[in-house]
Amino acid sequence: IIEVGQPDHSVVTTCAYCGVGCSFKAEMRGEELVRMVPYKQGKANRGHSCVKGRFAYGYTSHKDRILNPMIRDSIEDPWQEVSWDEAISFAATKLRDLQSKHGVRSIGGITSSRCTNEETFLVQKLIRQVFGNNNTDTCARVCHSPTGYGLKTTFGTSAGTQDFDSVEDTDVVIVMGANPTDGHPVFASRLKKRLRQGAKLIVIDPRRIDLVRTPHIQAAHHLALTPGTNVAVMTALAHTIVTEGLCDEDFIRTQCDWEEFQDWAEFVSRPENSPESTALLTGVPAEELRSAARLFATGGNGAIYYGLGVTEHSQGSTTVISIANLAMATGNIGRRGVGVNPLRGQNNVQGACDMGSFPHELPGYRHVSDDATREVFEKIWGTKIDDEPGLRIPNMLDAAVEGTFKGLYCQGEDILQSDPNTKHVAAGLKAMECVIVHDLFLNETANYAHVFLPGSSFLEKDGTFTNAERRINRVRKVMAPKNGYADWQVTQLLANAMDAGWNYTHPSQVMDEIAATTPSFANVNYDALEEKGSIQWPCNDAAPEGTPIMHTNGFVRGKGQFVVTEYIATDEKTGPRYPLLLTTGRILSQYNVGAQTRRTENVVWHDQDDLEIHPFDAENRGIQDGSWVRLASRSGETALRAKVTDRVSPGVVYTTFHHPDTQANVITTDYSDWATNCPEYKVTAVQVSPSNGP
Ligand code: SF4
Repeated sequence: IIEVGQPDHSVVTTCAYCGVGCSFKAEMRGEELVRMVPYKQGKANRGHSCVKGRFAYGYTSHKDRILNPMIRDSIEDPWQEVSWDEAISFAATKLRDLQSKHGVRSIGGITSSRCTNEETFLVQKLIRQVFGNNNTDTCARVCHSPTGYGLKTTFGTSAGTQDFDSVEDTDVVIVMGANPTDGHPVFASRLKKRLRQGAKLIVIDPRRIDLVRTPHIQAAHHLALTPGTNVAVMTALAHTIVTEGLCDEDFIRTQCDWEEFQDWAEFVSRPENSPESTALLTGVPAEELRSAARLFATGGNGAIYYGLGVTEHSQGSTTVISIANLAMATGNIGRRGVGVNPLRGQNNVQGACDMGSFPHELPGYRHVSDDATREVFEKIWGTKIDDEPGLRIPNMLDAAVEGTFKGLYCQGEDILQSDPNTKHVAAGLKAMECVIVHDLFLNETANYAHVFLPGSSFLEKDGTFTNAERRINRVRKVMAPKNGYADWQVTQLLANAMDAGWNYTHPSQVMDEIAATTPSFANVNYDALEEKGSIQWPCNDAAPEGTPIMHTNGFVRGKGQFVVTEYIATDEKTGPRYPLLLTTGRILSQYNVGAQTRRTENVVWHDQDDLEIHPFDAENRGIQDGSWVRLASRSGETALRAKVTDRVSPGVVYTTFHHPDTQANVITTDYSDWATNCPEYKVTAVQVSPSNGP
């Protein structure tokens, strides 16, 4: 820890890492942050924290931060430091020129789940009101967009159903495609406490995550499925529940569409969907599938928690729907201890989605083609809103390569590092005539930028983040922005340089506008947040105190919708050249591509990504523990150190993606979720062979 003396004041704010949304007291001495102390009154963490929130804030003052705006005419030119006025005017002029030459839809923007609700709201407003189109997207595209689609379709709202406290009343937990110990550590502690008290655990994951066997916890079932077979496993579980008469018929008849249920029940009951028929495909023994299904259906309150191992597949949305089907079929919705709970990776991925950062949805998940919703915004914004959905990130890049998309405002997201098919992303960026990067660091995307606008850290601004349990937490300014402007102010500068006439003086005014336009936020304002500490949406006249648990009295969409989920194998196939399947995940002490954790020098972080390989596969290839290996796929190759372990099954290898040298996205494929284009990061056919190193 960097000690800078005793604190003389403190400010309560929210962690900017994962979707648990822990509250901290930032203890300050003047303008110096002395330490982050977990806040006992924080409703998401109750005084607990993990190593990242507690210690990994050094990046906010790292020497790599860019504090002055920069411009250049061509990406071949060196950067030139300029004033804020000059940079903003340069960017606005370029964007307007592009629109007059190539049409109003030739530009767009991407916002970030790292930014506040107010900032993401303003970015989509900039695009809809000022750019005049719906070409707005967010990094949720590459993580939880299938959650948005799947839960909206089945329940009517794109959000988890429960609060974290609810886990205290659960009896059976399914953890699917998530590793809470590393990814959501503070929630994992609460889950482990409940498991130690006797709740039963079913883990559905190709890898033996920590929860499967950890002191005083032993999962009742670990369904170590073959990567890519999530839907087949969920259908086999449903088959057992339906054919053995374990459905909660009362719940289904009163809360769900009965005819759709019957169609779904007929489908899952077919012999080809039985555990026996799918065992070979999924790699999970039939008796294990049957036994897990019986436990979930009959063991009391059943809750499902899931992560990117569910969403980042070509059938990501289908898997989310299959989870919702299972919860409805067993009556596990609408009370404490049950529910469907996506574990959100980034601090504000829930909020960025809530705020209308998608090309087809206005804030509050309302489609842009809905006349009444558009009218609400048109009245306040004084402009017509395009009624055609805009471009998603991959479509923007495709259109750029084709020559019809020319300019991009990219806030807080390094698409060159985070998005699939790095070569295609680079080609798209290179083809654009104006790329504006707004970020803390000169990231990889900035190599293709013409304007760099310095970003502000979470310590330097006011606003709110919304965590995985829909909890709106205050982010409070702890110190003045090192670059001169908080991110919401920079977006306002750009909007006003394009004649928007915005005059926000504080993010609370943006929240008032959100509340005035978005029914689920109608009673949310900064005074209420001060008084209550935090609020879980929906918060409106129907639920003035907020909503810890959703769908308690019927579903938001009316009747819950069962949807038939047919398993369709991914196009990514193993074969003689690429016989193994690669899947990916995270470790506790790093975060995503490491932009922040790798720049926090006061803690020793894990400094490399390893490749986990089963002893059987390692021995067959002459690979020793700790030796260098070549990891090759149809897309590319890289070198990693081998970790020989039976955490993975034979035929499966696993790595993390925290270090740029690993180039995980060079290895992964171009396949994506059929409904949302979320990339299929979790299934890649690979070969592993001994190597001399990078
Ligand atoms: Fe931050 Fe998540 Fe750790 Fe809490 S669990 S301190 S929100 S990274």
